Amino acid sequence: MDIIELQEGVYRPEYIYHGEDLGVSYSKEKTIIKLWAPTAQNVEIELYNYYKNDEPQETCDMFKDINGTWTVKLTGNYADKYYLFAINFGDRIERTIDPYAKGLAPNSQMGLIVNLKKTNPKGWEKDEGKSTNSPVNAVIYEVHVRDFSMSARSGLRNRGDYLAFTEQGSVNNQGLSTGLDHLKELGITHVHLLPVFDYASVDEQNRYEYNWGYDPHFYNVPEGSYANKPDSYHRIREFKQMVKTLHDHDIGVIMDVVYNHTYYTKESSFQKTAPGYFYRLINNCYLTNGSGCGNEIATERPMVRKFILDSLKYWVKEYHIDGFRFDLMGLMDKETFFSIEKVLHNINPNLLLYGEPWAAEPPNLEDYQKIYKGIQQDHKIGFFNDRFRDAIKGDTDGFVTGYINGKYETTNDIKRGTVGSIDYSFDIKDFTYKPEETINYVSAHDNLTLWDKINKSVSSASLKDRIKMNHLAQAIVLTSQGVPFIHGGEEFLRTKYGNHNSYNAGDHINQIKWERKTLYYDTFLYYKGLIKLRREHPAFRMNDPHMIKEKMHFLDSVDAAIGFVLKDYANGDEWKEIYVLYNPQHHWSRFWFNKQKKFNIVVNGKAGTDILHSFKSDNIKVPPISAMVLYVD
Ligand code: CA
Repeated sequence: MDIIELQEGVYRPEYIYHGEDLGVSYSKEKTIIKLWAPTAQNVEIELYNYYKNDEPQETCDMFKDINGTWTVKLTGNYADKYYLFAINFGDRIERTIDPYAKGLAPNSQMGLIVNLKKTNPKGWEKDEGKSTNSPVNAVIYEVHVRDFSMSARSGLRNRGDYLAFTEQGSVNNQGLSTGLDHLKELGITHVHLLPVFDYASVDEQNRYEYNWGYDPHFYNVPEGSYANKPDSYHRIREFKQMVKTLHDHDIGVIMDVVYNHTYYTKESSFQKTAPGYFYRLINNCYLTNGSGCGNEIATERPMVRKFILDSLKYWVKEYHIDGFRFDLMGLMDKETFFSIEKVLHNINPNLLLYGEPWAAEPPNLEDYQKIYKGIQQDHKIGFFNDRFRDAIKGDTDGFVTGYINGKYETTNDIKRGTVGSIDYSFDIKDFTYKPEETINYVSAHDNLTLWDKINKSVSSASLKDRIKMNHLAQAIVLTSQGVPFIHGGEEFLRTKYGNHNSYNAGDHINQIKWERKTLYYDTFLYYKGLIKLRREHPAFRMNDPHMIKEKMHFLDSVDAAIGFVLKDYANGDEWKEIYVLYNPQHHWSRFWFNKQKKFNIVVNGKAGTDILHSFKSDNIKVPPISAMVLYVD
């Protein structure tokens, strides 16, 4: 375990500051800067005309303010000045940027005072973001900014950049839509972006470097490597243009946020401003490592919790973000978890909030502080549902199979997932109170893609059967109660050539290969059809557990097939009864009814809301490895 310094007195209760003004507050007439550095003996701010200058053009003393803060008021227009703090701890002077920085020089070399008004795109004041009413109405599409557009086959001009999301009319080498047009065609409601705050592992001036970005540096500034130029104005302006364009096309923007560790520890702005305060320690010096990345952010301390809340509020207010995905939320303490929900939904009740209910290693927290599946009940925060995920396809990276690829013992876990993981019955219950608390998915950026997993686990199956397994997996996700989540590119069988942890593997492995849309166009149409079915039919989007118990019933099955009916115009649906049937087996499976009904098939090989075929019968035969959806008027 690494050792860091803990400054005596840094935890004192009189150092808890409640004001909303930490960081830089700019106006044309004056700039007020406030820094929290409770154990400092004195603090100066150095102002630079250019970040490459060796000497500051101006140095100002900051005065000791209340609760461990230091303040300076700069009279005049200080926009576009770079700055560093020189913090004197008696035995040394630390030079650093503040954790609250809103602007940065390339590669975070200095802070920058930004006139944020100059970064707003046209119509920004009227931009209201995406309204969903309930998380179960969302269809989330996870993508990395660079992966989305980096391929030459994307047909996009701003390859690897925020601005790629603003382009319209782009096509792949076969003339099929890509980029934003593709997202609209697919019908998703929200784009979930892998980290887009400033991270440390990529040189922003080197266009060839690649990383997912789970290595936070400055939380309140967009990452510079996705901008046309890495200076603050470009990154902020282009980020906002991305958000604005997506909003204009009725697509929400969710940020993947990583408030569980920082890339640097001793050299971080946290440690340089308040030594020892921001990280979890054992014996006041040893860093704990629940993140697996060398440190754990001490979310349970008041000024850390405040920082996280302030940061989230800032992204909502300044950048119009519609939701957050919390990385390794199992490292966060319970009180912070509940505060986030309360504070953010107070600003906008429609914000989508969800996270991973686990950590890399057990967190250095008391049991009563820990987060685990179940504590979210009735709290409007969702958790990734790993039990459902693994029941559908097997383990994440190995040869273990699941329901779609041959392990039929997982039938009951599939049923648990389809009801939204609520307490449905004695046998069928899991961790949620409401379906909005489960993020249903079969693949994400971590681990093998769904297609690579299928290929690894059932390599001897025919191509046709492997594709059917893929379709069945996503049909289960999109016809289940809960919040569906799709790994971007999965809709045309995304491959990373078997790489299960591609965080720094570069573009060749990671980029979305848009030519595959042509190759696997039927898969694309299938996903699109399932999304359309889900979005047009509220029966798939019940959020009241009582309604689910009343309207959703499982059918008797003689084998590993699963069938359920959503009945009595469930949740105001226009269809009286909707039958959803999954058959993972290599033989046909039959469901019997006690009387004849007239069935209209809408999903069977193809998917959508149009009737593929109608028939009158007292039974339904489901083809091998497939999902069927039928309705009765
Ligand atoms: Ca960076």
